[in-house]
Amino acid sequence: MTRAAYRYVDWSLGTDPEQPLQRRIECASCSAASGDSPGQLGPEQWALRHAAATGHRDFQEIAVAYLRATPAVEDA
Ligand SMILES: [Zn+2]
Repeated sequence: MTRAAYRYVDWSLGTDPEQPLQRRIECASCSAASGDSPGQLGPEQWALRHAAATGHRDFQEIAVAYLRATPAVEDA
């Protein structure tokens, strides 16, 4: 968690508990991609099936974390 003071109020930046981390895997050889998933297993299975079907071996994983800034006075 990152803390900083702006406009005379301490703010904290942390993960949004209502929005889980989303992951997807994209093929580096074509434009194919898995769907977004809060888990890792689904995108990895997609990548392995894609590799077996196409011979494409290079992928990149994109993870999106949703963050929420909260004033310290709400932390109490
Ligand atoms: Zn591909």
